[in-house]
Amino acid sequence: MDRITGHTELLTLMAYPIRHSSSPAMHNEALSYLGLDYAYLCFEVDQDNLPQAIESMRALKVRGGNISMPNKIAVMQYLDRLTPEAELCGAVNTIINDDGVLTGHITDGIGYIRGLRDHGFDIKGKKMTIVGAGGAAKAIQVQAALAGVREMSIFNIHDKYWPRVRETTALLNERLGCPTKLYGLEDLDALKREIWDSDLLANATEVGMTPQKAWTYIPDVSYFKPGMLVTDVIYAPPQTLFLKMAQEAGCETMNGFPMMLFQGAEAFRLWTGRDMPIAHMKEFLKI
Ligand code: NAD
Repeated sequence: MDRITGHTELLTLMAYPIRHSSSPAMHNEALSYLGLDYAYLCFEVDQDNLPQAIESMRALKVRGGNISMPNKIAVMQYLDRLTPEAELCGAVNTIINDDGVLTGHITDGIGYIRGLRDHGFDIKGKKMTIVGAGGAAKAIQVQAALAGVREMSIFNIHDKYWPRVRETTALLNERLGCPTKLYGLEDLDALKREIWDSDLLANATEVGMTPQKAWTYIPDVSYFKPGMLVTDVIYAPPQTLFLKMAQEAGCETMNGFPMMLFQGAEAFRLWTGRDMPIAHMKEFLKI
């Protein structure tokens, strides 16, 4: 730690629980690789101590930070500005502090779209089927619409997220001009039809994540259209059953690592003004 000096600036991650996060390793590696005088540290912050934690960013002149669960929505009320994307998503995952003015950004969706581009896939003019209605899903849906996706079909179970995904569907159709249809995930005929009519299929739910890893809502491999790109937001495990089946069906696949890397790269650029060294980071993260 000989690179820490009296001048070193602080970047923070505020969430709870948070000790498992791979963001500190990723950002500190990129900072030291580029010789930038910042340190990125995790802080256990929940909604009880969030207002004080955000206020301390101003007092301590913290350059910026990431926000994760359970604070992504609650944090908005304590910030001075929001980017249009953060406002549309109703969530923030990155804060930048410009001389005491705190701006909230959301980089998850940008991370996903940059991940697709890095994979050689341009979403503009394509049709996408996406399963999910939570925070990750909405960030992807909004950013895909902003990036010019032609059409979107959203599926979700009828859980607590259903009213919210109905609102998102209206937002995509009416405010962002992206033709979007919403289906219940139990409608398997529609699921198969929409997947076969799409260029891109995305899992943006937590299904497939440890300990649910043995499970997927896709009944069998005939649901996947060979040659299409199939993506998962999950990176632990690196290959979910969903992606394994897609690969067996002859699809291209992309797991959640590129989204994680590029959402971090976007935040890194906002704080430091420098591009994250992507090739080095892929090697470091074994992506
Ligand atoms: P969330 O709690 O906001 O949303 C959860 C989603 O999963 C909802 O759509 C919910 O309906 C769905 N779901 C839950 N149980 C289900 C079931 N049994 N069947 C079908 N659907 C079910 O969570 P989130 O923040 O959107 O995160 C979702 C996943 O995305 C998590 O695994 C998270 O780790 C991952 N994620 C990855 C990145 C990345 O950079 N790769 C970024 C953010 C989130």
